Amino acid sequence: MKSIKDRIEIIIGDITQIDTEAIVNAANKSLMGGGGVDGAIHRAAGQMLKEECRRLGGCETGEAKITNGYNLKAKYVIHTVGPVYRDGRHNEPELLRNCYENSLKLAIENNIKTIAFPSISKGAYGYPIKEAAPIAIKTVVDFLNRHSEIEKVIFVLFSQTDFDTYKRVLSEYI
Ligand code: ADP
Repeated sequence: MKSIKDRIEIIIGDITQIDTEAIVNAANKSLMGGGGVDGAIHRAAGQMLKEECRRLGGCETGEAKITNGYNLKAKYVIHTVGPVYRDGRHNEPELLRNCYENSLKLAIENNIKTIAFPSISKGAYGYPIKEAAPIAIKTVVDFLNRHSEIEKVIFVLFSQTDFDTYKRVLSEYI
């Protein structure tokens, strides 16, 4: 089996352009679209995504739901709802961990082997990157160690600072 290093990639880019089998959306509880990466994914996927999302009836924080990808290169979108950051003492770390873990579980249930994540909660939901990055990396690395089914996870960052932070955290962790 490939090493963890070969199964994780960190890049700067636009997640709507990534051709993994699934991309993860940092959605809100309504699943009806919003700003940031959510808006970008809905625009790129097209109206059909909104129609499928409407039928899902929302999603709780830390949970994940799957839809088709429609006009995206990715076949599926996994929608997960990150915690709104208050001060880090309101269960935010566990809820953020759940987002990564539940998205990966859903991937396995749907036979998905390649998946891309944005930095969940790092935008409008205000999670500091220095706290969010170790949670994202550690949860994914630990999951990959337990589940050989997932071949590749790509973290798609939207800024140089976020990219540098993820790179540093990964090199410290594995
Ligand atoms: P949240 O509400 O969970 O904080 P946001 O969409 O506001 O979600 O932000 C999550 C992260 O996604 C932020 O770092 C933001 O810069 C980034 N982002 C925004 N658009 C894209 C995109 N097209 N591809 C990848 N990341 C994106």
